[in-house]
Amino acid sequence: MNTRSPTSIIMSEEKSLNFLEEIVEADLASGKHKKILTRFPPEPNGYLHIGHAKSICLNFGLAKKYGGATNLRFDDTNPVTEDTEYVDSIKEDVQWLGFNWASELYASDYFEQLYQFALALIYKGFAYVDDSTSEEIAVQKGTPTQPGVNNQYRDRTIDENLKLFTAMKQGKYKDGEKVLRAKIDMESTNMLLRDPIIYRIKHAHHHRTGDTWCIYPMYDFAHGQSDSIENITHSICTLEFVPHRPMYDWCIEKLGIYPSKQYEFARLNMTYTVMSKRKLLQLVNENHVNGWDDPRMSTLSGMRRRGFTPESIREFCEKIGVARRENLIDFSLLEFCVREHLNKIAQRRMVVFDPLKIVITNYEAGGETLQSENNPEDENGGERPVPFSKEIYIEKEDFMEVAPKKYFRLAPGQMVRLKSAYIIKCDEVVKDEEGNITHLNCSYIPESKSGSDTSGINVKGTLHWVSVADALPIEIRLYDRLFTEENVAAAEGDFKSYINPDSLQTIETAYAEPELIKEAGNELVRLKIRSLRNKIPTVDDSEYFITKRYQFIRKGYFCLDKDSTTDKLVFNRTVTLKDTWTKVNK
Ligand code: ATP
Ligand code: MG
Repeated sequence: MNTRSPTSIIMSEEKSLNFLEEIVEADLASGKHKKILTRFPPEPNGYLHIGHAKSICLNFGLAKKYGGATNLRFDDTNPVTEDTEYVDSIKEDVQWLGFNWASELYASDYFEQLYQFALALIYKGFAYVDDSTSEEIAVQKGTPTQPGVNNQYRDRTIDENLKLFTAMKQGKYKDGEKVLRAKIDMESTNMLLRDPIIYRIKHAHHHRTGDTWCIYPMYDFAHGQSDSIENITHSICTLEFVPHRPMYDWCIEKLGIYPSKQYEFARLNMTYTVMSKRKLLQLVNENHVNGWDDPRMSTLSGMRRRGFTPESIREFCEKIGVARRENLIDFSLLEFCVREHLNKIAQRRMVVFDPLKIVITNYEAGGETLQSENNPEDENGGERPVPFSKEIYIEKEDFMEVAPKKYFRLAPGQMVRLKSAYIIKCDEVVKDEEGNITHLNCSYIPESKSGSDTSGINVKGTLHWVSVADALPIEIRLYDRLFTEENVAAAEGDFKSYINPDSLQTIETAYAEPELIKEAGNELVRLKIRSLRNKIPTVDDSEYFITKRYQFIRKGYFCLDKDSTTDKLVFNRTVTLKDTWTKVNK
């Protein structure tokens, strides 16, 4: 695996067709297909992650580009691990990403049809019931360097197989007592063609079909046939399915059904994170994170909660492109895309995380309302009122009592500009008996008001601030990488030993300008509605996903978190203003 840095990808933005687009264009040009139909086939056994986003963008994106359509098909053939909670979350995530499916389908709806296909294979002499244990089957299968051997069940008559398979379906046998196998070639160089199991007995309750079935088709028997039933033209999956393709084609050929075709691309791997539902489930179950939508998770629900935008995730998927070679994508590239988008849309607000009080000794007015632009990137962004008064908070880290040369923030005798307000000068550092700074006495330059500055004074530093009397307390949550290891999946030992103990930092009380709070009411209502799991958005529910994005000046991009209450608003940092991570860690 090689790591691609954000910059190397950004530099090479040539817009040639990817290999899948080439295939589709050729198929349309030759008349093989008039319209393409793709599918996104998640197994509802967990929440979707950023890797799935790549698959979603690819499947839906291809169809969109070429005027086709995409089905959302739940690959729910394994009764044990699946749940409707997952089904709902998957639908929500796909919609949030901005895609609409043509049909919502379930592989379990094909159970009867798949059963008929299995009977058809038996009729044609291409399948047999095997009584061997799974250990015996494994031994008989051989190894990649040693051919497998046929067993006595392989020669069962068609009638006997039909009788036994029907009995399997009727629940006459216990789990594992018998299986149905495709009769292909026990000596094939492809291990997956050595008479693969296509049906197993499992007396388990299924989240949709209940107790109707006690035999369930294996992935290799369900997937291709489901594609075929739906007339999927291009079945796009990840590279690990390359060895499954011969079986995919074999089933379709032997059954004589619609010839869907499978194509494979490299799955998305990302630095400092894990992307397997099994591992994500462990993080949730063992309380390493606070649920599937914890803002540090690589899940789409986590990213949404953290404030990532669907536009930036789509842009990210576009930038990484599709390849047929595995690689490891730098997490910073995703953050780059998020930052780019938020810079354009985020409302600027001022919030002080760690306050230092300033008294402006020569400010005699009780207070005044200044104006500050909402977004310098948006010419229609407008302005908001910002109250100014004699006492303000600045950030503690923006002051140094003994400052080095070229320190452009506040220091004794030095001047700075307060954003959208005045230039102030630090005249005196006031301390308590123990020598702790209680506040700074400053003076302001009345002629230096932003927008009408006639002071002629040039200062290099501009600080954010809030008026003490108008400041409102909020909670801030800052996030870091969830893992300390770049390639977590490839690292030795338990992946959980690489969890970053400092991935969440909470600032219980930060001070926000009032305009931020004024808007929070509506946002809170939306968040509460969204967290009610019984409310699933419909395609035209345009209000549903609206999230207000903010840039807290000099602090990063933020959005309201669903843990907020009317008494306490909580804001998540989506991403910092600059990429501090790549520099520090490389
Ligand atoms: P996981 O290992 O995370 O459980 P999965 O492949 O079992 O993933 P599915 O629900 O079966 O998850 O996947 C639905 C679709 O998403 C499949 O077509 C799969 O190939 C694709 N997909 C899953 N993970 C990635 C990834 N990291 N990059 C690209 N596509 C992915
Ligand atoms: Mg899977």
